[in-house]
Amino acid sequence: MANNEDLFKAIISHAKEYGFIFPSSEIYDGLSAVYDYGQYGVELKNNIKQYWWKAMVQYHENIVGIDSAIFMHPTIWKASGHVDAFNDPLIDNKDSKKRYRADVLIEDHIQKIEDKINKEVEKAKKRFENFDEALFRQTNPRVVENQKKIDDITAKYAELMQNNDLAGLKQLILDLEIACPISGTRNWTDVRQFNLMFSTQMGSVAEGADTIYLRPETAQGIFVNFLNVQKTGRMKIPFGIAQIGKAFRNEIVARQFIFRMREFEQMEMQFFVRPGEELKWFEYWKKERIEWHKSLGIDPENYRFHDHEKLAHYANAATDIEFKFPFGFKELEGIHSRTNYDLSRHEEFSGKKLRYFDPETNESYVPYVVETSIGVDRMFLAVFSNAYCEETLEDGSTRVVLRLPAQLAPVKAAVLPLVKKDGMPEKAREIMDILKPHYLCQYDEKDAIGRRYRRQDAIGTPYCITIDNQTMEDNTVTIRERDSMQQYRVAIDEIINKIR
Ligand code: ATP
Repeated sequence: MANNEDLFKAIISHAKEYGFIFPSSEIYDGLSAVYDYGQYGVELKNNIKQYWWKAMVQYHENIVGIDSAIFMHPTIWKASGHVDAFNDPLIDNKDSKKRYRADVLIEDHIQKIEDKINKEVEKAKKRFENFDEALFRQTNPRVVENQKKIDDITAKYAELMQNNDLAGLKQLILDLEIACPISGTRNWTDVRQFNLMFSTQMGSVAEGADTIYLRPETAQGIFVNFLNVQKTGRMKIPFGIAQIGKAFRNEIVARQFIFRMREFEQMEMQFFVRPGEELKWFEYWKKERIEWHKSLGIDPENYRFHDHEKLAHYANAATDIEFKFPFGFKELEGIHSRTNYDLSRHEEFSGKKLRYFDPETNESYVPYVVETSIGVDRMFLAVFSNAYCEETLEDGSTRVVLRLPAQLAPVKAAVLPLVKKDGMPEKAREIMDILKPHYLCQYDEKDAIGRRYRRQDAIGTPYCITIDNQTMEDNTVTIRERDSMQQYRVAIDEIINKIR
């Protein structure tokens, strides 16, 4: 693969060609940043959700799940701050008429300088033995100069964002001579704030209708049900509420396939703790979540924490788990210590007490919250892009294989009669019936066996079970493993154990 851009294109077309992800409304030329999951995509996505749900709800006795409605009382979004502050700064290029996020233009500019530094480091690494990277970064004049540029821009940018200084952001874009990638010009409009929430009307009569919002996060559905769950579940602090569900954001620039969508899914968990203990639990959840990612067997080098230096006004600690996507390290999951901000705001706006009486301390308080929040689709992209592999085999032929973690693979085993006669299809059907109650399996008798193996490799099926002449004699089959392509014989009674 020539470069990461080509690799990413190959991944997107593979996702479509093999029934994982289709552009929404494709026969009507699509709908920007909205995607549909196909027959294998939905399986992979469901497996990801189940893997998360099990880790959170099944393994933690003090976490329960809910499924709240997408539509909620509009005041909820006033209380949460989304009506007033869930904005992105947008800017248009007057020549190309293309719209951009001002903050993203600046971040991309910083990234380009960072890429230059990394290139310099990689070059030097190849040239010198016993290369001391830290020393090189401190002393190489070009690297030092570029690093200073990054530090200066970052400081200025953070200050402007903090002060909501839109004119300043435009000036910074002009000062950095950032041009529109389409028109190549620097003919920019002023920067404006743009609210990311989709709104709609509830009720059939337009005049009397209330504006309601499609939720931009699932978390608020948890906060407003805090007391319901605590009381009916007799939950004792610390405890958590988990939820998986759709969220909607009118993203200004939706790019990078399913990384940034307008309709997406989140897996969120709010953990309610005693005031003063939140940072301890923040550390706990940082560890738990990174362990969850690593348990999938993906190279740990692909993950890193990015601690937030500038915190939202309601947070007292925040970090992102970033993943190395084909387009670089980007946020996959957020872990936030949100203090008692949300519950207190809902107390204020609803006039209802949202308190917990702590029998251990004999006190009543608004609990503090540590949240873990991960996008299902981003997790899908992380797993899928990491699994995609184009290989040249010893005989010079090539294969595309999805090395998906076996727990997440859409189809766990394919059952393949070597030929369509001599009782082999019937035997294969018998094996399908044994496996069906346990795993999603696929029967395939079309084409030569090699081509059938390749088809299964391309959708990430960990095992192919082949029924051949010997099966008819001794009730054994050949199992072929996806990654090693090794083959061995197993008795039919043993197949389930083997797959397990
Ligand atoms: P970003 O900075 O990338 O816009 P964010 O910080 O706004 O993300 P959060 O509000 O913390 O994201 O949402 C939690 C998680 O939801 C993110 O880590 C991400 O995995 C997912 N997510 C957020 N926005 C989108 C989107 N537009 N499309 C897909 N997933 C998303």
